[in-house]
Amino acid sequence: MINTVRGTKDIIPASISDWQFVENVFRNASKIYGYKELRTPIFEKTEVFSRSIGDDTDIVNKEMYTFTDKGGESITLRPEQTAALVRAVIQNSLDRDGANLRLFYIGPYFRYERPQKGRLRQFHQYGAESIGSPNPEADVEILLLANKIIKELGIKEYKLLINTLGTENSRKNYKTSLISFLNDNKELLSEESKMRLDTNPLRVLDSKSEKDIEVMKNAPIILDYLDEDSFNHFDTVKKLLTAEAVDFTIQPRLVRGLDYYCHTVFEFQSSALGAQDAFGGGGRYDGLFAQLGGKPNPAVGFAMGIERILLILEGLNVSHKDENECDIYVICGNPDLSAKANSIAEMLRNKNLRVITDINRRSMKSQFKESNRFKARYSIIVAEDELTRNSVILKNMLTTEQTEIEISKINELDLN
Ligand code: AMP
Repeated sequence: MINTVRGTKDIIPASISDWQFVENVFRNASKIYGYKELRTPIFEKTEVFSRSIGDDTDIVNKEMYTFTDKGGESITLRPEQTAALVRAVIQNSLDRDGANLRLFYIGPYFRYERPQKGRLRQFHQYGAESIGSPNPEADVEILLLANKIIKELGIKEYKLLINTLGTENSRKNYKTSLISFLNDNKELLSEESKMRLDTNPLRVLDSKSEKDIEVMKNAPIILDYLDEDSFNHFDTVKKLLTAEAVDFTIQPRLVRGLDYYCHTVFEFQSSALGAQDAFGGGGRYDGLFAQLGGKPNPAVGFAMGIERILLILEGLNVSHKDENECDIYVICGNPDLSAKANSIAEMLRNKNLRVITDINRRSMKSQFKESNRFKARYSIIVAEDELTRNSVILKNMLTTEQTEIEISKINELDLN
């Protein structure tokens, strides 16, 4: 037997209704907020990600599925969507007329991480991006969309953590002070953070190492280094969220993994998830368009992990399974009559009813069993006797009541 690759999963029919429920929530909420779907290829030129996410992030450093194709080009399976979406907006001149772009996406993403509960090597995300506004109103719209989705999914126990990374200027001043603090405490840091101190000091704030967490309790926080622009932007975000009664917690050490964020960053966490407790996150990325060769264009967005959302829903014990797998099962005990059985089935399918016929030439008895297994609401029995009168038997599977009906009248039946 050949199994799936470690960290990847089949999505089998028994769980597909939960996936479709979640995807429908995403699609409906996106529509309500005016976000249109964009789909990009699963793989991109490696530089799309290495130039945007940051050379010193875990994603680019350790987790990308990168290979050289037969033409000698370096290709990467997309580890996230934002960079590839920005590439697509620039390439297709979608932002040509300067209007706001509201986009969403759903699809598979790939990261070579150590698999564990809620962490896969192929996982799925929904995300939304608002492009063209530098204002806090756009950050808030994105957060309201995320909030709406969480509500529609039925998730009640969760936390929204927010922080600001401010303008470039604020970050520069903060970094200087952070580096000086980290240097003073270098001996107490984990080996990884000692290295990050020189390459990407902000990431030390993200560290999951107990040692680092202890040290960082006394580290300076960016909120003390905000210039006027940064302060006002964050202040408006907080005010607008409060006005809409959106609960949030300010987490001054939240920086998120990627290099391209500025101003507002946020994360959604659920205690139902265990160690991998984030089920969504995002932020503002005003510099990314220029970094990928486009004209500067401010933007803000977020992504949610579908597998983690399904784990949360599993804990809530809500099922979105369709109880009846079919409306009508057409039973036919004689293969010579299958043309008749088929034409009746097709007639009913044209009325948008879900109809199943026997394709295994089983006995009438096992066809009845099948009909029960599918939880069909009705069975139609096609047999010689009734056919001589151009009729079939219609059986209501719930009441077990049987009636003979003329085939020409089937179209008029209300079986919904
Ligand atoms: P990120 O781009 O890392 O902020 O990821 C956004 C969301 O995608 C996270 O909050 C998770 O819900 C989900 N996610 C990220 N990486 C994985 C993974 N390896 N397996 C499953 N879900 C993931």
